[in-house]
Amino acid sequence: MTRALITGITGQDGLYLAELLLSKGYEVYGLVRGQNNPKVALVESTVPDVKILTGDLTDLSSLMRAMASSRPDEVYNLGAISFVAYSWENAHLTTEVTAKGVLNMLEAVRLYSGDDPAKVRFYQASSSEMFGRVQEVPQRETTLLWPRSPYGVAKVYGHYMTINYRESYGMHASSGILFNHESPRRGPEFVTRKVTQAVSRIALGTQDVITLGNLDARRDWGFAGDYVDAMWRMLQQDEADDYVVATGETHSIRELLDVAFAHVGIEDWSDKVVQDPRFFRPAEVDLLIGDPAKAKEALGWTPKVGFEELVRMMVDNDLAEQRKLSS
Ligand code: GDP
Repeated sequence: MTRALITGITGQDGLYLAELLLSKGYEVYGLVRGQNNPKVALVESTVPDVKILTGDLTDLSSLMRAMASSRPDEVYNLGAISFVAYSWENAHLTTEVTAKGVLNMLEAVRLYSGDDPAKVRFYQASSSEMFGRVQEVPQRETTLLWPRSPYGVAKVYGHYMTINYRESYGMHASSGILFNHESPRRGPEFVTRKVTQAVSRIALGTQDVITLGNLDARRDWGFAGDYVDAMWRMLQQDEADDYVVATGETHSIRELLDVAFAHVGIEDWSDKVVQDPRFFRPAEVDLLIGDPAKAKEALGWTPKVGFEELVRMMVDNDLAEQRKLSS
């Protein structure tokens, strides 16, 4: 039986990836942080077959213990402080977890692997936020990185450290540069889920307006369930490599609002949206659009869920959740 260790198991991607690996017959271990972590119950109810281990990306010895007890064939490093807006308030903590946490995990894998450097296959969750002030359109694996937030800078460190461990030690370490990916499991601080939750409350009459920041930013939004399949495919290749995972389409926050409101029968949302400087960022990433050609060709990966279907799926989920709450 193939064994996998997932850091960040309590997040959106951790849950989808655990479901995928369990469906393939893997034994799955998930790393959770902290004492009495409230999100453990979510993992236990969603993917009860996952074996939970305690550890912290900032604590190398806890990662070495997790490696020794799970003895994984594959490690998926999804754990991070991942909310861009928060990273200006917590730049040091973001660096400790999102940047140096990658180094700790790579070290734990290297030390566990002994004299067989490719014994464990390693996946690093890199991010389109690394492209920041984009130097090329669309963005591909070779595009110059220009991060625009402490989070983006931390992800650049993790990306290059993964490449460096591959080149220095011959580790089977791959980096997936995933563009924004969303789902009904997305945290409500991210703009997609914030919008779909608010639109469902507005449709049900329990909220009047939604308060947002910059409506003109553009993102390449895909479905998280599709993206975890790309992660798995990367680790099945003979050679480790880096891949952009994206849809190749870009949409603005305004278009997100158009699709979400139209789905509940509201065509003109101008009196339902308020802009507030609190939600603008010190430096913005204006445009992201990825070129997934390499992932398509080398991994045989294609996204299945398009932008409009994704937004409607999230609104439908939030309508059902809000109805349950008010009944
Ligand atoms: P990110 O791409 O990882 O930062 O994902 P987010 O979903 O947090 O933000 C996507 C874009 O939406 C960014 O350009 C934000 O500036 C923009 N945005 C506009 N209003 C909001 C808001 O109220 N919350 C968030 N999270 N983003 C907003």
